[in-house]
Amino acid sequence: MTLADEAAQQSAPAPIAVFPASRPSLVGLTRPALAEALRAIDTPDREIRMRVAQLWHWIYFHGVREFDAMLNVSKVMRQKLAEHYSLTRPEVMEEQVSTDGTRKWLIRMPPVDRLEASRSLGAEVECVYIPEADRGTLCVSSQVGCTLNCTFCHTGTQRLVRNLSTQEIVAQLIVARERLGDFPGLTPPDNGLIPFGEGVRAVSNIVFMGMGEPLYNFENVRDAVDVLSDGEGLSLSKRRITVSTSGVVPEIERLGAEAGAALAISLHAVRDDLRDRLVPLNKKYPIKDLLQACRDYPGVSNARRITFEYVMLKGVNDSPAEARELVRLLKGIPAKINLIPFNPWPGAPYECSSWETIEKFSDIVFNAGYASPVRTPRGRDILAACGQLKSETEKLRARARLAAELE
Ligand code: SAH
Ligand code: SF4
Repeated sequence: MTLADEAAQQSAPAPIAVFPASRPSLVGLTRPALAEALRAIDTPDREIRMRVAQLWHWIYFHGVREFDAMLNVSKVMRQKLAEHYSLTRPEVMEEQVSTDGTRKWLIRMPPVDRLEASRSLGAEVECVYIPEADRGTLCVSSQVGCTLNCTFCHTGTQRLVRNLSTQEIVAQLIVARERLGDFPGLTPPDNGLIPFGEGVRAVSNIVFMGMGEPLYNFENVRDAVDVLSDGEGLSLSKRRITVSTSGVVPEIERLGAEAGAALAISLHAVRDDLRDRLVPLNKKYPIKDLLQACRDYPGVSNARRITFEYVMLKGVNDSPAEARELVRLLKGIPAKINLIPFNPWPGAPYECSSWETIEKFSDIVFNAGYASPVRTPRGRDILAACGQLKSETEKLRARARLAAELE
């Protein structure tokens, strides 16, 4: 934090948010957490199962915002729920819509403790929506910031770091569905780019590729996958939920066994010396161990392939020899390869490889039998870089505070 930031924080007005929240939200809770919330307001044990099922249906299937909309819940119960709880969602602080339909939201979570309540900046995360003809993908965050410091990633440079709760992870989908008009009775925004049709929802896929390392927040991510994939609520297929990791080897097996989500690995280099530099976690869990964990991933098959992400960095990891080595390394693992053009950010020590180089690399990978390897940059006009919306917003706020002080 700079001195100016610190001064601005000290002179920040008293927090408006109250902690503990007087009426905690039920949106995003698991079934056991909902049962607990009902017990806390003296719901008789024999009613709990039925009440959880009712709440589940209204919160996750219908996306209601008021207890009064829960038609099959008695009026007395609705009043009691409303006295103690709310159906509040996290707040969308910024929304940017790209000309290609990509949307990026900066979402602020309600404070979880006094410290957060007193900070002028609460826990804020990014969430990106990418529509395609036959699917809509929501990229969610699992942590605020990240404790790992991959040298090409902007998230690693952010100061506030904490795990998101299950509730906060799930709430990102609720916010997105609401914004996209994807709950019964809502209308989608009118730009024709959101996929809707027979059996297609605006959000059909989730990728944990926003801020944070999901496997450093294992339990919350696992429980969120459970809520997101529950057939009586949000109903996403587990095959369409992908968890991306920088390579936390000891948790990979558990992810397959306990969450059953699809796996993506941020590989980015084919030699340990280079990967040590790009993804420092590699010093702890080198490539050989990482690939062994992939071979052993529960449920992996040609129908359920592991995605290997490879960010294209000019002159660093993008030679034809490295493409050939990549193919050799992945032999025997049911794999998809995703070449990601590097997204530059101010002060980044890398540049994106040229299109010619990416094409050459991609041809080698393609000729080895891997389909559609380059991830088309989406929403370039609004995204500039991963983590950038949050930093831009922080910069603007700091400027506004400074301007207010000078007045
Ligand atoms: N922490 C997890 C998931 C979040 S990052 C992980 O590292 O896998 C999601 C993906 O975005 C990762 O593959 C990451 O390497 C990639 N990424 C991060 N910064 C990037 C940038 N500036 N340009 C392109 N890809 C980036
Ligand atoms: Fe964290 Fe992933 Fe960024 Fe690495 S790439 S710093 S693990 S968010």
